[in-house]
Amino acid sequence: MRQQSFFSPTMRDVPQGADITSHQLMLRAGLIRQTASGIYSYLPLGYKVLRKIENIVREEMNNAGAQEILMPAVQPAEIWEESGRIHDYGPELMRLKDRHNRDFVLGATHEEVITSLVRDELNSYKKLPVNLYQIQNKYRDERRPRFGVLRSREFVMKDAYSFDSSEEGLEESYWNMFRAYQSVFKRCGLDFRAVEADAGAIGGKGGTHEFMALSDVGEDTIAYSDASDFAANIEVAKIADGYEKPARPETSMAPIDTPSMKTIDDLMKGLSIESTSIIKSVLFIADEEPVLVLVRGDHEVNEIKVANLLDSSEVRLAEDAEVEQVMGCRTGFIGPVRAPENVKILADYAVRGIAEAVTGANESDKHFINVHPDRDITISSYEDLRFIKEGDPAPDGKGTIRFAKGIEVGQVFKLGTKYSKALKADFLDEQGKAQPLIMGCYGIGVSRTIAAIVEQHHDESGIIWPKNVAPFDIHLLTMNVKQEDQAALGESLYKKLREAGFDVLYDDRKERAGVKFKDADLYGIPVRVACGKKAAEDIVEVKLREGGEAVEVAVSGLMDYLK
Ligand code: ATP
Ligand code: MG
Ligand code: MG
Ligand code: MG
Repeated sequence: MRQQSFFSPTMRDVPQGADITSHQLMLRAGLIRQTASGIYSYLPLGYKVLRKIENIVREEMNNAGAQEILMPAVQPAEIWEESGRIHDYGPELMRLKDRHNRDFVLGATHEEVITSLVRDELNSYKKLPVNLYQIQNKYRDERRPRFGVLRSREFVMKDAYSFDSSEEGLEESYWNMFRAYQSVFKRCGLDFRAVEADAGAIGGKGGTHEFMALSDVGEDTIAYSDASDFAANIEVAKIADGYEKPARPETSMAPIDTPSMKTIDDLMKGLSIESTSIIKSVLFIADEEPVLVLVRGDHEVNEIKVANLLDSSEVRLAEDAEVEQVMGCRTGFIGPVRAPENVKILADYAVRGIAEAVTGANESDKHFINVHPDRDITISSYEDLRFIKEGDPAPDGKGTIRFAKGIEVGQVFKLGTKYSKALKADFLDEQGKAQPLIMGCYGIGVSRTIAAIVEQHHDESGIIWPKNVAPFDIHLLTMNVKQEDQAALGESLYKKLREAGFDVLYDDRKERAGVKFKDADLYGIPVRVACGKKAAEDIVEVKLREGGEAVEVAVSGLMDYLK
């Protein structure tokens, strides 16, 4: 590709509103442009990277025996009614109507479509197992689209769905995908961890792992052992059975160890409230302190009390603003609120749930500051919540717990029969008996992966693409196109390198060498070959984008050098 007519405009300055490095660099290097909030166009350079990642994913999926299909992005609302998710999914689901006033949704995920697709076809154990995947745009009306393609409202996802006739089969399909994911992210050059994760709103029983690219801009916190494979999302960093929680070190928040503060029952006793009369309890942060709000009543609100969890003596009636905030929530209970700064505090204050319901975080403008549905809220019972802290011994006894921030680039999930039951997708087993298909689902954020790669691979001058995902193999440039020998050598190398099978971006622009080098650094193509002052002697300057010094190489030996 000749850079003269290449459409990937660079920017020198940090674009406004881009808070993290990957977003800044993806804009500055001309990979993407915003079309609307959380909605992006991919320019040639960005699209090439996207396609590279897609192809890695495709190869690994095919190798794992999955088959590629393509499902519609526009889905009839009826199937979401059938699964019940039309209500559960909340405002993140984009909804639309056709000209006949029929309801549709834009695919946020495809469990409903795939299950209805296979329900009449995969009707015998003889046809199983099957694994189907697609790479397609997904639509989620995220409350806070941000960080460029890291959390956007339209994004590219690979989603796969496995169908098995037995739990053992599902187990096999699951680990098969797990291994494929490891290969994908390794090939993408990511430093990642597969962590035990929370089943969350998607439902289904059984295991799930998230693949986390380690990065300080990550919105998740993971707890891992520095000496074994143990790793879990802090949301579920509950410890294996039989593990004794180590004594909590002395901190300024010592009062939480007060036994009466540990469970909601105890707390309510302290407040002289019967647990049966509580219709809502909400844990949140007020003035940076964890506060438990208890709403008493019998459907109607009779009284709202607020207890400061750091100071058990402070119990008061709620203020108007708090009442409003609390009543905006559906009846239920918030477990640990994983708002970034508060995670540790709140993990300590996890209280027992009264009802297994989600709070109003799904409703517009009625959630807590910094709280994000699914991501920030876990519903669980107190018994399940024994949180790990940094410095604890790892639950497997090997090493010490460390915390790290991670970007969720993928997730594998044992769904079980949730969707096959709801959508009546049965198969006949060996005895001729109808059974619901046993499913797994597996997602990779293809576009988010680009941002994760840039977060991990850059320096102050720009992106440093790992070879496998680089938009081009070689960035060839002529320092001064007005010099005939330089231009001639550039042209001839452009031809030769392409003939040798390299994908080459050739900077043939009438720009100053300094501008060209700056753009080359920003673009981050792994190898730079410059035709400059020594062109007449058939010598070029080769520099690796990753930490290399420029070296002079004779053109006759260039191909060998690049191999
Ligand atoms: P998150 O916790 O970040 O909101 P999720 O758990 O809701 O993600 P999944 O339903 O597991 O996402 O979807 C599979 C993958 O799709 C995720 O692992 C992630 O890589 C990607 N993904 C999800 N939401 C977005 C988004 N808004 N923008 C870009 N990629 C996304
Ligand atoms: Mg989400
Ligand atoms: Mg998630
Ligand atoms: Mg997920």
